[in-house]
Amino acid sequence: MAATLAAKTAGRQGAERGVAILSPQPTALLAWYDRHRRKLPWRAPPGRRADPYRVWLSEIMLQQTTAKTVAPYYARFLARWPDVTALAAVPLDEVLKAWAGLGYYARARNLHACARAVVARHGGKFPADEADLRALPGIGPYTAAAVAAIAYDVPTAPVDGNIERVIARLYAVKTPLPAAKAEITRLARALAPRRRAGDFAQALMDLGATVCTPKTPACAFCPFNQSCAARLRGEADLFPRRTPKREGALRRGAAFVVCRADGCVLLRTRPAKGLLGGMTEVPTTEWTAEFDGDAGKSAPRFVVPRVTQRSKKSGAASSACSPPPCGEGLGKGVRSAKAVQPPPLPAPPPQRGREQNITWRRLPGLVRHVFTHFPLELIVYAADVPPRTPAPKGTRWVALPKLSGEALPSLMRKVVAHAFPDIHLSRTRGEET
Ligand code: SF4
Repeated sequence: MAATLAAKTAGRQGAERGVAILSPQPTALLAWYDRHRRKLPWRAPPGRRADPYRVWLSEIMLQQTTAKTVAPYYARFLARWPDVTALAAVPLDEVLKAWAGLGYYARARNLHACARAVVARHGGKFPADEADLRALPGIGPYTAAAVAAIAYDVPTAPVDGNIERVIARLYAVKTPLPAAKAEITRLARALAPRRRAGDFAQALMDLGATVCTPKTPACAFCPFNQSCAARLRGEADLFPRRTPKREGALRRGAAFVVCRADGCVLLRTRPAKGLLGGMTEVPTTEWTAEFDGDAGKSAPRFVVPRVTQRSKKSGAASSACSPPPCGEGLGKGVRSAKAVQPPPLPAPPPQRGREQNITWRRLPGLVRHVFTHFPLELIVYAADVPPRTPAPKGTRWVALPKLSGEALPSLMRKVVAHAFPDIHLSRTRGEET
């Protein structure tokens, strides 16, 4: 049935051009895979069944992220939490901290929720059935098919961007993406063999990553080159077809880097739901397309600390972590370190104690970041406050040397790097685009 659908499709595409096209043979791809398979840290050796936990962990990490970026994170996670039960037993915060820098943080929250669900619903063993896998948090059709095929040899097809490209070319799929997804998935599933389904899925992934590449596919080395409709038409680079994307509107905002004289930086935790949910950040304004530079309303406000003899001696706000002096330009309502007198700050919200007179400095340049749905530009303001200054409600002080251990997303790592060019946070930056 599966082979019939694939053969019919190839025949249909070929007939339109009067070209005889052979049906793609899974055995040809498997033979190629046996010779050219990539060695990846999460891949089981030839002939060995893969561990579903490792397959799932790597597939979640690899979403929108390169294998090179994922490798050290995968190794750290596995060393720390060697199985799903160990991962389920730790608090979410630990997982978010270990994930920091890898981007797309909803994945980390779902990873943790999924580990707990596997323990609670399936006694710590990942199910083999795709429908059961899809019922788990954070597991969509792709990951369910990948775990089922690679770990349990279920004859199904995980369809990621690489496989989408191979199948769209193999059958010269006319419908543009993303509308073609269902058709491509149907064709990929129809092609999956009953034996070695896991190897076949990984072979398609490898073919897409190393031979059937986006710009210049190396068709001469492809095991499907006698059965590829796009190649036989001389149009490999025209597939897959795509509907042009509309880019999200630019959003803008401001970030506030506050240093206390004892070398601590002011941080807060984002709400659990939504963009970068549960991650750590310096206080910011909202990020909107309408941001007009008026950052004053959102700047953190501080009460005057109680003065002790020691803090008197140490001086008021000469900070141990002070960012560089100001550049040009002022947000409305934000004070400058220069002599220019900006408009006064808006009235502070009612607080106990007297409010400190903070001098904000706008740092030169902008921090730019691109999320999946929109690009973002942040102005960065810096300020110093004296020792013993209490953190405003909803924020906390964190010593600079401990910043690396915080769940700072890539955007916030850029903000920190902008404010403290000499500080290098130890984790690798992920691809949070
Ligand atoms: Fe891709 Fe060329 Fe192989 Fe077709 S023949 S699947 S275009 S590498």
